[in-house]
Amino acid sequence: MPAFIPPAKPIIGAEERAAVDRVLTSGMIAQGPEVAAFEREFAEHFRLDRACVAVNSGTSGLHLGLLASGIGRGDEVIVPSFTFAATANSVALTGATPIFVDIEADTFCLDPDRVEDAITDRTAAVMPVHLYGHPADMTGLQAVADKHGIRLFEDAAQAHGAAIDGKPVGSFGTFAMFSLYPTKNMTSGEGGMVSAADAEVERLLRLYRNQGMERQYENEVVGLNNRMTDIHAAIGRVQLTKVDAWTEQRRRNAAFLDANLDHVVTPPVRKGVRHVYHQYTVRVPEDRDGLAAALRDEYAVGSGMFYPIPNHRLAPFQAPVDLPETERAARECLSLPVHPSLSEADLERIVDAVNTLAKAGA
Ligand SMILES: *Cc1c(COP(=O)(O)O)cnc(C)c1O
Repeated sequence: MPAFIPPAKPIIGAEERAAVDRVLTSGMIAQGPEVAAFEREFAEHFRLDRACVAVNSGTSGLHLGLLASGIGRGDEVIVPSFTFAATANSVALTGATPIFVDIEADTFCLDPDRVEDAITDRTAAVMPVHLYGHPADMTGLQAVADKHGIRLFEDAAQAHGAAIDGKPVGSFGTFAMFSLYPTKNMTSGEGGMVSAADAEVERLLRLYRNQGMERQYENEVVGLNNRMTDIHAAIGRVQLTKVDAWTEQRRRNAAFLDANLDHVVTPPVRKGVRHVYHQYTVRVPEDRDGLAAALRDEYAVGSGMFYPIPNHRLAPFQAPVDLPETERAARECLSLPVHPSLSEADLERIVDAVNTLAKAGA
């Protein structure tokens, strides 16, 4: 059996190790100049045209973004159910209620028409997820948000560098969060980056990140300690210099899979969209779980199911909603390796394995 092809593989090089060593040697470890530089460089690199605030995880970023936008008890925030639980968790932790809405069959992202159907007089905002690195329909969602006077946020955890008609994700919402977890398109070890649409949201993000303090011991609001360390920021700064090449490799790998896979439904890309392939997700209408097991056992090809249980059915939420496209995606979706460490031989093995198994199963 050939070596196992993992579904994801963080890349940490000598430059990251040297940067960490530099910070450790300096003796200044907690949030400091590396974090400030990382915030500036991140905003500039992804052409966000707005300020960024670094935090200790993507989940903290969502939580603080919601708090800084004034979301709390009594509010409803519309989210997809077909996402990682952090999306809904962060809403619930503010005291607001996540309202789960169905996705589009092609992009796996929030459906603007279904969002409009779910709006009530308590709806404060809608928070789409740019799932797998494909941008949600921000034009459609912005139109619904404007029509009903609600805010638009972005869970861009999986979408560093994705864009719609050249406009980068992370530049649309009142706030947007990028995750820097190791398996995301770039990492700081753990971490999150939040972009802020205006100076007041930025100021509140900085307050909530640091116990409510802008000036030491003059606490203005009840806050948290969600600071990023300079150790993590130093890793992130190095990764910023590499992420574009990795993204191009992801896109080339995806193009190869698009061109060569048969018998499974390859991921469509909407016109004008730049997809950054955090995941390369196919639909397997019959026996997805059996295909995943055979890929692993017979071909040593790893894969992932993101996400087999929709959030609205998880124990903390149990929302009585009917989301047929979400249920179908949870049943059919399988993410194949697309990460930049794949060799040509790996890609050929993935194609051979999927085509052979999916054909036999069809
Ligand atoms: C990874 C992820 C998060 C949470 O980010 P962490 O850095 O792991 O806290 C939130 N939303 C989505 C869609 C994610 O994929």
